[in-house]
Amino acid sequence: MTDPGTDVGVALVTGGSRGIGRAVVARLARDGYDIAFCYRSDDQSAELVAKDVRETGRRVLTRRVDVADRSQVQAFVDAVEEGLGPVRAAITSAGITRDKPLVLMPDEDWDAVIRTNLDGTYNLARSVVFPMIKRGGGALVTLSSVAGVAGNAGQTNYSASKAGIIGFTRSLAKEAGRYGIRANAVAPGFIETDMTAVLTEKTAKEMRKKIALGRFGSPDDVADTVSFLVSDRAAYITGQVFQVDGGISL
Ligand code: NAP
Repeated sequence: MTDPGTDVGVALVTGGSRGIGRAVVARLARDGYDIAFCYRSDDQSAELVAKDVRETGRRVLTRRVDVADRSQVQAFVDAVEEGLGPVRAAITSAGITRDKPLVLMPDEDWDAVIRTNLDGTYNLARSVVFPMIKRGGGALVTLSSVAGVAGNAGQTNYSASKAGIIGFTRSLAKEAGRYGIRANAVAPGFIETDMTAVLTEKTAKEMRKKIALGRFGSPDDVADTVSFLVSDRAAYITGQVFQVDGGISL
């Protein structure tokens, strides 16, 4: 076990078992947070992530939660506040894609993406913000996407959910700023995770050509931005959208 360092409070991450959420968990544990994270079904990955957190000397609480289910999310937040203490930073990374052209979109794929990505963000914020208001502060970071900023063919459902997250985050920043709560969105471009591993090599090559830095990002590229945004170094930043996209949006 390494020296746990200074205790900076509790960070809660949805979708913390894989990809970007996993990197955020690791980074925030190194920053000194005790960690709570949820995931949908992959117990094995979750246990590996939890083990890594314990090795930093920080406490960790994990649970299977469907973020689309409001009561499961509320029960999770209650368990975290009781088990670890007040949530100071909340990061909504749980997300899915179900890509199809609009004319071929099954209603279930529309519903699943909106419920997981957009409702999931609402559900978590709905549960953590009021306790944060009562305590006089906290920081939220939501995971949007460049697809939510610029749109993306084949992703009407995903882009709508991610654009919704931007509107949600900006509105929350305006509404809760006076209570010491900051809310910012991170909009990644192409990041190397299971979500982008499904791209064919041809598509990946075409995408790389459009990225100014010429490569996909790493989950750590996003985690570093999240670490900054939840910290006091970002004390005067709220309601912003940070594109971590290697310049694909230029
Ligand atoms: P990922 O590797 O597919 O991991 C998704 C994570 O979310 C897993 O921990 C998964 O848990 C969890 N999850 C999925 N549905 C859930 C649900 N209903 N309830 C609770 N947890 C759920 O995804 P990623 O690439 O890291 O993406 C993370 C976030 O960044 C997403 O919001 C995504 O839209 C956004 N983003 C990613 C990229 C990219 O290029 N990767 C780009 C832009 C934005 P299980 O494994 O247990 O299912």
